[in-house]
Amino acid sequence: MIYLIPPGGNIFSVMVRIRMHDQGPKKNSLQTSHFPTSFLSENPIPDSSDLLWTQEDLTYFRYPNLSLHPGLVHGVFTRRGGVSDPPYDSLNSAYTVADRPANVTANLNKIKKAIGAEQLMFMTQAHGENILVLRQDNFGSHSEVPPADAMITDMPRIALMVKQADCQGIIIFDPEKEVVANVHCGWRGNVQNILGNVVVRMKRDFDCRPSGLLAAVGPSLGPCCAEFLSHENIFPRHFDPFMVRENYFDLWAISCWQLVSAGLKRENIELSGICTRCRTDMFYSYRAEGVTGRFATVAMLR
Ligand SMILES: [Zn+2]
Repeated sequence: MIYLIPPGGNIFSVMVRIRMHDQGPKKNSLQTSHFPTSFLSENPIPDSSDLLWTQEDLTYFRYPNLSLHPGLVHGVFTRRGGVSDPPYDSLNSAYTVADRPANVTANLNKIKKAIGAEQLMFMTQAHGENILVLRQDNFGSHSEVPPADAMITDMPRIALMVKQADCQGIIIFDPEKEVVANVHCGWRGNVQNILGNVVVRMKRDFDCRPSGLLAAVGPSLGPCCAEFLSHENIFPRHFDPFMVRENYFDLWAISCWQLVSAGLKRENIELSGICTRCRTDMFYSYRAEGVTGRFATVAMLR
């Protein structure tokens, strides 16, 4: 219904604006006096987003806010267009899920080619707090870097890739300083506020101004499907206002709130509004599928 993408054409001519509809509950219904509640009432999650879909060899989309800046290349790839067999079908980007390594390599080469990257950097994602800052003076020759969940760089033509199946891939871009971050953020990342920590590092290491940063939150577990039965044990109390119904949380709104708390402007944050668990036809979902692949979010300075 929403993924009608015309085939063929060149990479810039077939971008199509398609309205994406959120399948989940629209708003937080709780009335408490925490700061997040006022944040939510002032910043309702939009029920649709205009994503720029491209189908060349691979299908991917770009975010409208990030696409305005020629200094940044980015794309959120789907699970389509790769060579992996079920249950990793087909554009699996992760070596860590028992897919055939040769297939993963072929998939990564396709992604690299689509983005036009010299090198594709990705992490051993660990749901931790480690943030990698990649600069000319510390840049090694290996494409796989140590356990970490966020990368920040000011180096051009080095594509930062995050792999997901329900977790959020979040791109943060500074168009003034030309610095980009790509963050892997699951619920543990939200609990640790990795987004806030990345913004602090961008500020400290690159003199970025948080109010000038742009961000985009990718396809991931939506409020329709983010059930946490043990939330009382794993979430801090200030997440309570983000509970949309019993045991279900709006992790998109939590990320948005954490970015705003770090100094970003709400209007500079884009949400894809796509729930991975609801859309396994397009994306991988760990919750829906268990053994499955990981799709890729990629960002690169030109
Ligand atoms: Zn869902």
